[in-house]
Amino acid sequence: MPSSENDSPILQRILGCIEELQKDQQNLSSKKEIKGQLASTLPTSSATAKPDSSKSTSDKSCSTGKIYGSRIILTTYPHQVGINPIPLEWGAKDAQTRGPVVVSRHPNSFRVRNAIGAYGGSYCIYRALAVAIGELEPAHLPNFANTQPHAEIGPHPQWFDPKKIVSFDPFGHTIVRDHVDHLKNGIDIRPTIAITKANMTLPDLENSVTKKRFQVDKKIVLNEKGDLRVTKAAVEPVWYLPGVAERFNIDEGTLRRALFEDTGGMYPELITRPDLKVFMPPIGGLTVYIFGDPSNVSNPEKRLTLRIHDECNGSDVFGSDICTCRPYLIYGIEEAVKEAQNGGSGVIVYFRKEGRALGEVTKYLVYNARKRQEGGDTADNYFLRTECIAGVKDMRFQALMPDVLHWLGITKIDRMMSMSNMKHDAITSAGIKILERVPIPDELVPPDSRVEIDAKIASGYFTTGEIPTAEKLAEVKGRGWDDLQH
Ligand SMILES: [Zn+2]
Repeated sequence: MPSSENDSPILQRILGCIEELQKDQQNLSSKKEIKGQLASTLPTSSATAKPDSSKSTSDKSCSTGKIYGSRIILTTYPHQVGINPIPLEWGAKDAQTRGPVVVSRHPNSFRVRNAIGAYGGSYCIYRALAVAIGELEPAHLPNFANTQPHAEIGPHPQWFDPKKIVSFDPFGHTIVRDHVDHLKNGIDIRPTIAITKANMTLPDLENSVTKKRFQVDKKIVLNEKGDLRVTKAAVEPVWYLPGVAERFNIDEGTLRRALFEDTGGMYPELITRPDLKVFMPPIGGLTVYIFGDPSNVSNPEKRLTLRIHDECNGSDVFGSDICTCRPYLIYGIEEAVKEAQNGGSGVIVYFRKEGRALGEVTKYLVYNARKRQEGGDTADNYFLRTECIAGVKDMRFQALMPDVLHWLGITKIDRMMSMSNMKHDAITSAGIKILERVPIPDELVPPDSRVEIDAKIASGYFTTGEIPTAEKLAEVKGRGWDDLQH
């Protein structure tokens, strides 16, 4: 039926009725939800953990009540009855005043949670799977016996500045020592940093001994195979949202909204709990490798060689020759070891930011597009191909990277084993001096990765050599698609 001017009032009335119905429906559901939440949070903590047998189990498709109880709390609100977060004061003068980061929905912790997200970074999803299939008790609490750090790191003055470390918890490795009472009360608090020691065996390092790039000293380089002794720290992300927002010059609301929307609405508390300022994102963290005495790292009297390395699984582990990642990493380790052997210290920080934080799938799509494009894989089109696919050429956003240097108490870097202008600028903007920048030696650059390294140099990466012109870039060509024999 064709619509006419006369239809409008009727249509408007129908639409109005539908809207009224929708509102009624929303009101009913939200009342039901709030009622459910209050009922769940008011009783003693054990009541929320036990399956509620009094509730109907007629819905056979949903048996989650057996694990978690039949009421689902979709989100919480500030000042909700029964919700009473443990105070958290980011940048406080000591760990006790700062307070523990409690993110768990464990029955003893649910009402005192002061953070959004989950422990474990991206591995929280595997934990969920383990619970779902019955391998893990959802109420399991870890036994931390003998897990204390192998080496003392900090505290350093930087830990008590709320702006200097915003992407992880500087006290993440000392929670068992700092929050004994909370742990005794069954609050689910977990370390987000662990520090251990290890020996490293890398086949490349046997070559380093043979070619006398470093010497066996039986303290750091243990033998002719080039085995190394190392102290290492694993760090999970813990974001202090006001600090992260400020680091990127945006407001906290914009950051919260983007995190909510672009994780498919996974974390409603980013919106409903503006009082919770800490978010544990489901992303990879970082690992710090320290050669030599760890206490040298923060000592300004001692020299420091450092490499910040962003994950490249294809090269780092599996030896792909399309980029310089593994050769530069090995060179960084060699130089770090030498510095430690000379009485200073060497540090490698390994960030889980695969493929410039675009991920390996995007990276491989870019490889295909680079190799198949008209004219072949040339350095002048290197960044363009990434931008065409991902919309940006890099999502590592180095602004958060210097946090780890502040955590280690670093105030200057004698030798920075990196050519990246983004890393350099982030570090110096954070007030840490870089005294020397050390590029990868030409002889370590695999032929097919000339495209990458020349494109980067032309875009502003540090070099002690020549900066390629536009014409030169167009001439730098990688292996063709048909040259990859499979
Ligand atoms: Zn790489």
